[in-house]
Amino acid sequence: MKVRLFEVFTSVEGEGILYGTKTLFVRLAGCPFTCFYCDTLDALPLDSGTEYTLEQACGLIDENLQDKTYKVNFTGGEPLLQHEAVAELAKHIQSMKIPTYLESSCFDSNKFNHVLPFIDFVKIEFKTPDAEFVDSKHYSNLMENALGCLRSSVSSKKKTYIKIVVSSKTKSEPFKKLLQNIFKIITRDDLSGFIIQPTYGIAEPSLQSLLEFYDLVHPYYNEVRIVPQLQKLIGVP
Ligand code: SF4
Repeated sequence: MKVRLFEVFTSVEGEGILYGTKTLFVRLAGCPFTCFYCDTLDALPLDSGTEYTLEQACGLIDENLQDKTYKVNFTGGEPLLQHEAVAELAKHIQSMKIPTYLESSCFDSNKFNHVLPFIDFVKIEFKTPDAEFVDSKHYSNLMENALGCLRSSVSSKKKTYIKIVVSSKTKSEPFKKLLQNIFKIITRDDLSGFIIQPTYGIAEPSLQSLLEFYDLVHPYYNEVRIVPQLQKLIGVP
């Protein structure tokens, strides 16, 4: 089996509920989606990065794994495009007793289910229609898959948190609908966090709109947080 990696590096986790932790990032190459705020454009082409055998990729991870690393993130690009390889790499990392973390757009619940047994921390990302993730024809199918991923993560009792990126283009009606669908599946007791992440440097939302989105989540989950991407503020990858 081969895997195409864009880069492997250690940095500070800048997003989500585990921000600030020393993390090894395994960035998979390739993503077919088109989010307007994407900040990993170089890793989007399916032929970006370098192809490795699984053995070589495990070696690369071992070489880059620093002492006291809190977790290893599979990120992208879109890691689920190479779900079989990600599952194998995650097994390798878990064998060293280091937690694994999946950052995916959750576009395919079958591929997600293949990887899930080898993942410790799951971020389920929901894209609002204004993210331009896909065109409007394909949006509902993609959301069904993301909801399916959430269902699987909850029933597998994984540490699960939700992230939604909010920009100045985000509208409250589709956001409310998303919340209704999400909280049909998960209860506050099963959720480890709900992060509203403002876009940075492009179509940035106002404080007022961030607080409006916060207020929409709060009745469902009062531990909601607005958390910007720390890595951009401190200028690290
Ligand atoms: S799914 Fe992620 S990697 Fe793909 S375009 Fe959107 S933000 Fe970028």
